[in-house]
Amino acid sequence: MNQTAAIVAFHRVDDAAAHDPISVPVPAFQSFCRLVSRHFRVVALPELLARLGDGKDVSNRLVITFDDGYADNHETAAPILREYGLPATFFIATDLIGTHTQPCWDRKAGIRTRWMTWEQVRDLHRQGFELGAHTRTHANLNALSPAQARDEVSGSRNALEDAVGATIRWFSYPFGGRNDFNEDLRALVTDMGFECCLSCHGGLVRPGDSAINLQRVPVNNYYRDFWHFGAALVQSSRLGQ
Ligand SMILES: [Zn+2]
Repeated sequence: MNQTAAIVAFHRVDDAAAHDPISVPVPAFQSFCRLVSRHFRVVALPELLARLGDGKDVSNRLVITFDDGYADNHETAAPILREYGLPATFFIATDLIGTHTQPCWDRKAGIRTRWMTWEQVRDLHRQGFELGAHTRTHANLNALSPAQARDEVSGSRNALEDAVGATIRWFSYPFGGRNDFNEDLRALVTDMGFECCLSCHGGLVRPGDSAINLQRVPVNNYYRDFWHFGAALVQSSRLGQ
């Protein structure tokens, strides 16, 4: 982690979804929080962005993020984060909040989807966690017209700003893969005034990286044994050297 930081991306923290590729069991999340609070300087997303912008050292910094807006984020993950005093940012697909919509990945995995309510989203904000936009419907922006993509992104930001009465400055794009985003979309997000744009792949953050093109390390069932997670971090930092 010399001269590098990590932004980790969770989705669900839920024992009932043990075979779900985007979930981690509760004890694993607790181990993760214990491990990172001992071995990393866990900072809020704005602090890492400020350090990157100022050209300051980001060594050993770690930022915790969640994507989509699952109910367990509020019910399970937030109390554990608070117990360890860890900041986090939650990226929300706003049209899904308060609904019973089952996305295709949950249908495939046979998982009953539970989204947060708007009251839970507001409560995360009241507890001091950061919120970010993640489109309205969790759309694959690459497959949309520019006007549709703009509506997905701005609609998500507007809904969050209306809900919490604060400016929403952070964005992570749905699906998060290399091929799920492009330079036109990056320009759109920049134009709209977002101060960062996060992927869900790619590895570690290095000095000089642009805030509008930051990579994350996804954490899921694959990393259930957090020695694997530690090894993966070390390996991605070596690969990047
Ligand atoms: Zn997502």
